[in-house]
Amino acid sequence: MDTEKIRGRLTGCQKLLIGLGEEWKWKRGDAAQEARLREAYEKLYDLVKDKDYFIITMATDALIFDTKLGSENETAVTEEIHMEEVSCPAADEQTQAMMDRLFPVKEKPKDKRVQRIVAPCGNETWKQCSAGCTKDIWEPDEIPSGICPHCGAPLTGNTIEAHPYIEEGYLPQWSRYTQWLTGTFNKDLVILELGVGFANPGVIRFPFEKTAFFNQCSFFLRVNQTFPQTTEELKDRAQGVHQNSVDWIIKSDYNVE
Ligand SMILES: [Zn+2]
Repeated sequence: MDTEKIRGRLTGCQKLLIGLGEEWKWKRGDAAQEARLREAYEKLYDLVKDKDYFIITMATDALIFDTKLGSENETAVTEEIHMEEVSCPAADEQTQAMMDRLFPVKEKPKDKRVQRIVAPCGNETWKQCSAGCTKDIWEPDEIPSGICPHCGAPLTGNTIEAHPYIEEGYLPQWSRYTQWLTGTFNKDLVILELGVGFANPGVIRFPFEKTAFFNQCSFFLRVNQTFPQTTEELKDRAQGVHQNSVDWIIKSDYNVE
């Protein structure tokens, strides 16, 4: 497929699943990288804002939650559930009004934008007990001493770097994600994988390939500066782009050459 077709597919799709990988990890304190990532998130927001989307990120820096994508006020586009179409040969205005009353277009509950992000590798601004004595997770600055009030062990970031990692931090969002994913089956789904390598391929890379394989209506776009190869099984329903995914989104020309 050429750039024009892929661009059309990406900007016109019903449902958009986005995975953010290693290329999106922010080294806290690096101001230049922060500015670049913020610009990329802004462009990503422009791409998804009018779509029914979900974002899964491997970044643990929580930067995304401090952008428009993490908004707690704005709601994300939610698919309408259409009642069974009723054939109505003489649909004058009055009949139409009656039909609308009898068969209203139902909507699923609206999600806030922040509810369209899941970070299964954790959030380093949240704290957990480093000894894992409790499943409690604390908000930033909730425990200024940095000491677990239950066992006295130091607190640590609630990420996969912790042993044990208290997974309760992301699980509610994970179930929202899997539910959303179920609703994409046999729909016009574009899977956009951005900068995901092999650090934790079980989180995004492999499951995305599987999702693309089983949804025959889907299209899979993999942008990666090092590993853009797509699997043979997906044939013409996948395209790899050999570019840094953050730069690619910032440019927003969706060029696949
Ligand atoms: Zn503890």
